[in-house]
Amino acid sequence: MSISMIGQVALKPKDYKSEVPVVWCPGCGHYGILNGIYRALSEAGIDPSRLMSISGIGCSSRAPYFINSYKMHTLHGRAGAVATGAQLIRPDLTTLVMGGDGDGFSIGGGHMPHLARKNVDLTYVLFDNGIYGLTKGQYSPTSRPEMTAYTTPYGGPEAPMNPLLYMLTYGATYVAQAFAGKPGVCAELIKGALEHRGFAYVNIYSQCPTFNTVDTVEFYRDLVETVPQDHDVTDLGAAISLARRTSEGCAPMGLLYKVERPTLDMQMTAIMDGVGGREDYDLNQIIDANRP
Ligand code: SF4
Ligand code: MG
Repeated sequence: MSISMIGQVALKPKDYKSEVPVVWCPGCGHYGILNGIYRALSEAGIDPSRLMSISGIGCSSRAPYFINSYKMHTLHGRAGAVATGAQLIRPDLTTLVMGGDGDGFSIGGGHMPHLARKNVDLTYVLFDNGIYGLTKGQYSPTSRPEMTAYTTPYGGPEAPMNPLLYMLTYGATYVAQAFAGKPGVCAELIKGALEHRGFAYVNIYSQCPTFNTVDTVEFYRDLVETVPQDHDVTDLGAAISLARRTSEGCAPMGLLYKVERPTLDMQMTAIMDGVGGREDYDLNQIIDANRP
């Protein structure tokens, strides 16, 4: 269990709702994911006063406003970078990053591999709707060629990227996938991610009925297939094989991969201990010494 689970509380899912009204379009899949997040926070017993919710820009990046927690709404694509700094300075808190496919894999694509390879101790919930919704419907890195959008009126020329393969390849230590139409599955996988010590990535398909006319609820329902019960979650090769099935029209739903290895903050602590200990580390002195 993560040290960030220290000081657990017994709260109901509704206790994690903030006073800010949720403003997504009717029928948006993000409602299902948000309900899954409330349930996961409740079931994991996370103290809202010890929770950092961090996002970039996009429809899903509004999520921190709707959660009873400390929150940072940062720059487009930069949530992971900000969260890395926040987690390193406060490894005793729970860090929850939320955002979309465009924010995470296009604008912020340069940051994602580093979250995984460094094994930053945070949970990243990616609301994957295959479109840029907030900017009113442009092709995203996970859009299918069949989808027409303002930027691709005749469809797209490229195959969509596979977020699961990407995360497995770069070294994420917890990789899972769900669908917004199954909030119970979302809750279970997000709870597992919150309790995992290390970089936990949860990809969640989410319909955008306003702009994405091909990735409908029915499409996702037919696409997802529960991970087989005998799947070994410590077998990277088996996880990659499951992830590759997405291109064959069978996207795995469930936990694909989970292993333990030292996190970035653990390794930084070990380094600091080697140079005299964290308590002797004067951040202000170093900042002053590096002023231009
Ligand atoms: Fe949801 Fe799409 Fe509306 Fe954004 S534009 S709130 S993703 S339905
Ligand atoms: Mg999107």
